[in-house]
Amino acid sequence: MKWDDFSEWGRRVADWTQDYHLTVGDRPVRARTEPGEVLNALPQTPPEDGEGMEAIFRDFENIVMPGITHWQHPRFFAYFTSNAAAPSVLAEFLTAAIAPQCMLWQTSPAATEMETRMMDWLRQALDLPVQFQGAIQDSASSATLAAVLTMREKALNWQGNQQGLFGQKTLRIYCSSEVHTSIDRAVWVAGIGQQNLIRVPIKGDWRGMDPDALEAAIQADLAAGHQPAGVILCVGGTGVGATDPVDRVLDVAEKHGLYTHVDAAWAGSAMICPEYRHYWPGVERADSIVFNPHKWLGVQFDCSAHFLKNPDDLVQTLAISPEYLKTHGHDGIINYSEWSVPLGRRFRALKIWFLIRTYGLEGLRQRLRNHITWSKQLHEKLKLEPDFQITSAPMWSLWSFRYAPEAAADLDDLNLRLVNAINNDGRIYLTQTRLDGQLVIRFQAGQFETTEADVMMAFGVITEIARSLQ
Ligand code: PLP
Repeated sequence: MKWDDFSEWGRRVADWTQDYHLTVGDRPVRARTEPGEVLNALPQTPPEDGEGMEAIFRDFENIVMPGITHWQHPRFFAYFTSNAAAPSVLAEFLTAAIAPQCMLWQTSPAATEMETRMMDWLRQALDLPVQFQGAIQDSASSATLAAVLTMREKALNWQGNQQGLFGQKTLRIYCSSEVHTSIDRAVWVAGIGQQNLIRVPIKGDWRGMDPDALEAAIQADLAAGHQPAGVILCVGGTGVGATDPVDRVLDVAEKHGLYTHVDAAWAGSAMICPEYRHYWPGVERADSIVFNPHKWLGVQFDCSAHFLKNPDDLVQTLAISPEYLKTHGHDGIINYSEWSVPLGRRFRALKIWFLIRTYGLEGLRQRLRNHITWSKQLHEKLKLEPDFQITSAPMWSLWSFRYAPEAAADLDDLNLRLVNAINNDGRIYLTQTRLDGQLVIRFQAGQFETTEADVMMAFGVITEIARSLQ
């Protein structure tokens, strides 16, 4: 393809994008393909000769699109959302066009400096103190891995990278039972071992870590000759939005000099609204905080904001600087590849800039508030139905329920069948989780274009399908 022909196709892609987003609500939310269908529709061998874009685009529509689950659907109420607001999509188009690799300041000064500025805009939006700096990571999993590696290196006086863990004291990391599995994986990858990730019991309505139990676990480990290395706090857990009592957990961590990382991958976006900040009192005392603007704020996937009170700890953990990566002649520049595990980095700051400038923080706050209000309204409505149980109260816009008619024998089986039937129906999309051993169905609202009518439509779909189950 010649660049001379690009504009015709660029326009067609732009038109297609607009049409897709305007009509996506008419499609079933979850893909209806069977496993292997898309694979079998794709030729087993690559073409020897090039093909025209017309044929490629036709196959994109005929083969790819039926196999897509529509995350930009206004009735996507499953998992957490992964948004793509229009201005951030435009920014991604431009990023694709210029395709910079932003590992070092000199490989893309604008990307580096915009990342610095955007992380500071986000810091201000969350009302974190000025000493927090940050980097944009690809995912919360990467940010958490970086934090766990920092915990490990600090605890080992920076000897782990050089000497490995053999012969060192056993390191211990603490979290509640409600954290996301990315914490487990970070601990595995850091070589600390699953058995040294200590699950502290939870307590209270927010299903948060019990600080007294944390203190007891640390004391027991010290008595056993282990080395506590860090605490990972949960604000807005994946299952039902579990949230630790941040200030009380930080009291314990500080007492023992432990590095602390807060995983607010989903709920962090809501902290642009002052009225939700009581969910993380004292968070400014944490060492590291992650939230994903791509989840709820509206930034195109992928974009994970990782704040650090003292970036030197992370840089000391991850930086590696062979001659070919050195920038001579410039002092005080940031090479963000020293702040993350991968060397290569995408230009992710541009889509934050486009988004925040288009809506302003106030426009974004209003969207989040609407999601929370509408989700609570739906919760209130379902609560009045005698054959439904609310299994967890709303945490921001997330809550859970189950269908529990009197005659039902096996509620787990019934609710699994219900969530499958709802998703096969296609009007809305929900996912299940386990809560105290029971299978429950989650509801969260957070899609950028969702309306009150979209959220309230879920009531009819859920009750109608539940009552039609045999
Ligand atoms: N933490 C929480 C609370 C999450 O809900 C998720 C994903 O949904 C993650 C971490 C992992 O996020 P990522 O996909 O950005 O690694």
